Amino acid sequence: MALTMRPRGTNDIIPGEIELWLELEEKIRQVCHAYGYQEIRTPMFEHTELFLRGIGDTTDIVEKEMYTFLDRGERSITLRPEGTAPVVRAYLENKLGSGALPVKVFYYGPMFRYERPQSGRYRQFTQFGLEVLGSGDPLLDVETIVLPLEVYKACGLTGFTVEINSIGCSNSDCRPAYREELIAYFEPQVEKLCKNCQSRLHRNPLRLLDCKNEGCQPILNGAPNISNYLCDDCEDHFSQVCAYLDALEIAYKINPRLVRGFDYYTRTVFEVTYSELGSQNAIGAGGRYDGLIEEVGGDPTPAVGFAVGVERLLLALKSQNKLEASTARPNAYLVHFGGESKIKAAQVAYFLRGHGLWIELDYLDRSVRAQMKAANRLSSSYVLVFGEEELANNQVLIRNMADGQEQLHNLDQLEELIKILA
Ligand code: AMP
Repeated sequence: MALTMRPRGTNDIIPGEIELWLELEEKIRQVCHAYGYQEIRTPMFEHTELFLRGIGDTTDIVEKEMYTFLDRGERSITLRPEGTAPVVRAYLENKLGSGALPVKVFYYGPMFRYERPQSGRYRQFTQFGLEVLGSGDPLLDVETIVLPLEVYKACGLTGFTVEINSIGCSNSDCRPAYREELIAYFEPQVEKLCKNCQSRLHRNPLRLLDCKNEGCQPILNGAPNISNYLCDDCEDHFSQVCAYLDALEIAYKINPRLVRGFDYYTRTVFEVTYSELGSQNAIGAGGRYDGLIEEVGGDPTPAVGFAVGVERLLLALKSQNKLEASTARPNAYLVHFGGESKIKAAQVAYFLRGHGLWIELDYLDRSVRAQMKAANRLSSSYVLVFGEEELANNQVLIRNMADGQEQLHNLDQLEELIKILA
């Protein structure tokens, strides 16, 4: 292993790219603000038990994707693979539910999953997510779908598809009944299913529905449809979700085979895809999780959430050329001649930077010609020349790089200089 290589599945975000990330983050914050969400920051790692209980031990994440280790105190610790269980833990630990409900929070930060890396799939990736806790209102399911769409729209992304489904609740006449029907349907044909489906059949039969294996598709296509098994309350909830989406004129597709990779979902689940990303085309996903808070030790509390993969969103934006190169440029480049001239330039740079201006200068004792070239390369708006003659008169030469106009400026009038360069 070369020391200069980062671990597989991780990324460096280097200068030149970070601007796009910051711009996106800014848009996310604006949309969250409009919808009344506040930011929450939870630790990067949690007790492993939280994810075992929260995500469910038959899920891919818990079975094979978690970064789990014993710390020096022999505690089992896991780098967070997702944001919902930590938010629920923080909600309970900090008693956020004792105030006004619902509690609406968003998070933004790295998640860790030991997956096979490929374009759009990493071992450390960034999720922006939101969670609403304390209300079962179907309008919140809809707002949870709409908010990320507003972020996509604010970025200029078009051509994404919203798919929704309801996977019912834990009442015996709802999902458990459907689960039994699924097992009864698949069992006689179990030999024809892929190994993955075979191993999941009894542990988590709903997950068979999103198997991508070609050979399984004909069997999956004939599987019973969840919409025929929803209890009255779940059916009513789902039709209200659809009615609100229609009222807001949000385009969506009902996909009865959409189930999600986490056990905690109840009722509404949704996914946003952008087909040009190929196999890793999900740019966001979420759902309602009315049972999770109780599972983690709280009182029964309805909740709904969504998570957006930021790297994939940026890939989608790149594919549509929606990412513009940064146009930021220094206010001024200070050209000096070393010695006294450099000291004066350093003083002026210190003053101007203290007032928030972006000031560049040379640290390699380069020629004036090379410094001018550097100023041009950075597209600096102004160049300030600290020449011997100017300094003798306590002046500096200001050159406007847009029109080539030059003027001498007295260095006693630095406040005036800010106004010129800002
Ligand atoms: P999930 O938490 O699995 O529902 O994923 C939510 C979103 O996070 C997905 O729609 C992806 O956009 C993104 N995502 C999930 N896993 C990865 C990964 N390994 N690498 C990059 N993005 C991911």
